[in-house]
Amino acid sequence: MADCIFCMIANKDIPSNIAYEDDKILAFHDLEPQAPVHVLIIPKKHIASLDDVQNEDLELMGYIMTKVKEVAEKVGLDNGYRVVINTGEDGMQTVKHLHVHLLGKRKMTWPPG
Ligand code: 5GP
Ligand code: ZN
Repeated sequence: MADCIFCMIANKDIPSNIAYEDDKILAFHDLEPQAPVHVLIIPKKHIASLDDVQNEDLELMGYIMTKVKEVAEKVGLDNGYRVVINTGEDGMQTVKHLHVHLLGKRKMTWPPG
């Protein structure tokens, strides 16, 4: 998607602070961290949101979730973390490319704001 900021980051057209990368996913530090560690994990394939996940994405979505612990370990989240996928308008999703927020290094309160 030419006008998608996270596709641009995945293509290295926009620089980011990369925490982990392979052929399917990219993990990079959030520009406006909401916790001492705040990383976004994205599929390199453009999927707009959880609402747009198709059956063909089953393996990719499983892959992303399987990689969370590896990314968490890489960025030093050794005492737990929170994973968030904001979706749609009420979910307050601002970037329309599916991303997993990985937050930690502080106590994540509940309920979230
Ligand atoms: P959302 O609100 O859609 O769940 O999350 C979007 C996240 O992307 C926000 O936390 C925001 O700070 C982050 N973000 C937006 N643009 C950029 C960018 O260009 N680079 C990085 N690293 N993070 C971004
Ligand atoms: Zn995209």
